[in-house]
Amino acid sequence: MMQSEKVYQINGLKIDPQLFTYKFGCRCNGECCYYGVYTDKVEHEKILSLKDKLIPLMDETQSKNVDDWFEEPEPDDDFDSGIAVGTEVINGKCTFLDKNGLCVIQALAINEGKHPWDYKPVYCYLFPITVFEKTLTLDDEHIDRLKQCNRSNENGTTIIDFCKAELIRFLGEEGYKELEANRIDYLNNLNSKENV
Ligand code: SF4
Ligand code: SF4
Repeated sequence: MMQSEKVYQINGLKIDPQLFTYKFGCRCNGECCYYGVYTDKVEHEKILSLKDKLIPLMDETQSKNVDDWFEEPEPDDDFDSGIAVGTEVINGKCTFLDKNGLCVIQALAINEGKHPWDYKPVYCYLFPITVFEKTLTLDDEHIDRLKQCNRSNENGTTIIDFCKAELIRFLGEEGYKELEANRIDYLNNLNSKENV
């Protein structure tokens, strides 16, 4: 829920002020992957182009038939191409998650000496942050339905610090600096309101 009337924007996206205060810690084995993910059509095509390298990394709990990997495309303005394609859920987990809780898309990038997220859909590496209706926000709906996500959070780190590397990848270095500046401004405004 928005706590301030001031609207922050970075790279054309509104910023949900919840990100400035929400505390997050990640300590489970990929439960967020149990429901699949929406990919941009371009990401989906890239993943399909890697099929010959992905299939050998898959185990018996996964389908090696590429026709099983994705849902039907659907229009969605929160994706650069305007089209989202969901990954299918097979055996209670994303089609790309192996039985040990490893994403084969990430495993392939690591095997090739690339950055682990080079082939990964944006909404995979960004979770629990997401974009909804052109707003960078918290995917609290998904967090709430997961049993283990952010249940311990003993270090009490704010999510934009915890997800710094992910946010720099998504917003760029300058965008992340803006986000930090926005946070200072937001917290200063909150303090001044509380002191009135
Ligand atoms: S593509 Fe990989 S990271 Fe994304 S939901 Fe599926 S298994 Fe998880
Ligand atoms: S479900 Fe939450 S705690 Fe578990 S891996 Fe995903 S983000 Fe981390």
